[in-house]
Amino acid sequence: MSCPLWFDPSLCLIGGSWIAPASQKTLPLINPSEGSEICRIAAGDAQDVDAAVIAAQTALSGEWGCMTALERGRILTRLGQLVTARVDELAALEAMDVGKPLTQARADAVALARYCEFYGGAADKVMGETIPYLDGYTVYTLREPHGVTGHIVPWNYPMQIIGRSVGAALAMGNACVLKPAEEACLTALAFAHLAQEAGLPAGALNVIPGLGAEAGAALSGHPDVHHISFTGSVATGALVQQAAGRNVVPVTLELGGKSPQLVFDDADLDAALPFLVNAGIQNAGQTCSASSRILVQRGVYDQVRQRMAAAYADLTVGPAQEDLGVGPLISARQKDIVEGFLAKGADLSVAGQGQIADGTPPEGAYVLPTLFADVPPDHVLAKDEIFGPVQVLIPFDTEEEAVRIANGTDYGLVASVWTRDGARQMRLAKQLHSGQVFINNYGAGGGVELPFGGVGKSGHGREKGFEALYGFSQLKTVAAFHG
Ligand code: NAD
Repeated sequence: MSCPLWFDPSLCLIGGSWIAPASQKTLPLINPSEGSEICRIAAGDAQDVDAAVIAAQTALSGEWGCMTALERGRILTRLGQLVTARVDELAALEAMDVGKPLTQARADAVALARYCEFYGGAADKVMGETIPYLDGYTVYTLREPHGVTGHIVPWNYPMQIIGRSVGAALAMGNACVLKPAEEACLTALAFAHLAQEAGLPAGALNVIPGLGAEAGAALSGHPDVHHISFTGSVATGALVQQAAGRNVVPVTLELGGKSPQLVFDDADLDAALPFLVNAGIQNAGQTCSASSRILVQRGVYDQVRQRMAAAYADLTVGPAQEDLGVGPLISARQKDIVEGFLAKGADLSVAGQGQIADGTPPEGAYVLPTLFADVPPDHVLAKDEIFGPVQVLIPFDTEEEAVRIANGTDYGLVASVWTRDGARQMRLAKQLHSGQVFINNYGAGGGVELPFGGVGKSGHGREKGFEALYGFSQLKTVAAFHG
């Protein structure tokens, strides 16, 4: 694939200037569809993070810190328009970098624009309260920015995660230091260029690409960072929380899941079928909210198994630009992880598998989408996050059993219930341990407006929607005594 870059990818953005990292070191960026090097990116480290934090502090005490919420909102709205104007270019970058089929990459670019638009419109609508209190007092609350916010972003949905996290943080008046993933950072850099074009003042957004153990660790442990937002693995999230904890800095953690869909005998199967499969294989299963467990009541189990198997037989895997529905995994390393899980399923029955398109480059990180049937709820494939195009079918008899199985992992990000029984819909919405519950749908179309985050090992804190604006601000209570 030709490289549609309109900027130098080997630089960091610090205080409004694009500069080489202090170490002058770079890292290769790999196109997972072909296993080839796209370009080299900056290997930022603690020195660059220090400089970025100082630039952010300078922005807060300068033009950016003095801007009204209305002006911040207008910049974000302009940024959304610039993203919209370049949706196809951004999609081409993401497809090349992440291996995401073009249609899915384009949807992410559209979502990024929508986040900018949403948070642009919301910036001047976050209000405090007045609180009835003792005689002679007037008490009110103010929502103020944390100050410098750190954003550690993974490789699976760079544009969407930057939109929901940086978009909300900027709307509240924070100055951001963004550490994109070393596996995929081109759209983060492109976004920062567009933010400059939109008029974002120098230092309000700084971008330091680099290794997690270097730039990421330096950011999460930096004493002058006041909030960290992290999306990624449980193990790294725990490290980030520890590092931030040493500075008593709040963190928002979004750590993935093992999200179930519960299909009852009375479900509308025609409506459910596309969601049952797509929610598992979208982005080759590398989605924090992927639905990797399909729990099906016995009355319709055989039918669901057969229909999902037929849908799997139609899945074709190939290079991102071929837009076949399933692309490669992000890297050879991720392929090893997923193949390791597939090997652990050797004792299970394979109900369905996709195919790899003819002519697909053998150097790419491709795996066969695989559906396992009759999987015991305590099997490792039914418990652990795989982060690949792998789903398990688990039969159940009763509603109580379904809830017990659904709640039986360490995670709790999203869950979905397919049933026509209204009372059951309400019961399960309460009983499922999960940050979001969908009834007769999955994902609700992406839901920029809908608070998102997990329970248990899926993390804590909420992003997206208005809720994110509360997370990226702190509440001050003012009590005025006037007699
Ligand atoms: P990771 O959690 O290690 O990386 C995510 C981000 O954290 C990247 O930007 C990385 O550079 C940074 N990072 C890494 N080490 C760091 C450290 N010590 N301090 C601060 N930041 C650090 O994820 P990974 O290794 O790329 O993927 C491994 C597994 O994580 C996957 O198989 C998947 O299960 C899970 N994952 C989940 C999500 C999600 O959306 N929840 C995203 C990516 C990966």
